[in-house]
Amino acid sequence: MSSMDECPECGQRVADYELGGYESESGQRGHWACNKGPLTREQRVAIGQQLLDYAGLDENYQAGGWDVLYECNTAESVARLVWSDAEDDHILTFEQARDELAEGVIAVWADREADARNSAF
Ligand SMILES: [Zn+2]
Repeated sequence: MSSMDECPECGQRVADYELGGYESESGQRGHWACNKGPLTREQRVAIGQQLLDYAGLDENYQAGGWDVLYECNTAESVARLVWSDAEDDHILTFEQARDELAEGVIAVWADREADARNSAF
């Protein structure tokens, strides 16, 4: 077994696309939660891609707000939305980043979409 498959912090094997796991561009895998933050730019962009995948899931895409994220962003721009300033350095996992977005821009965009639908009638 290659050590590239093991989290550098805890030594456990990390499966491909495991929730809470990542694979860096170098192929090294690990757990977000095991790493001491703040995340590197590469780690943030990887979570940005996970968020795009999440936004593209039917149930989320239809729910409002996430469709805007999915249609109008790249993994890099999603990462910039989540980590917009130093106060966001505490965000270390996909789940934290998803909740941060859901309570922020996603809620705003969902409201705008609802307003646009209501004013169409
Ligand atoms: Zn680990």
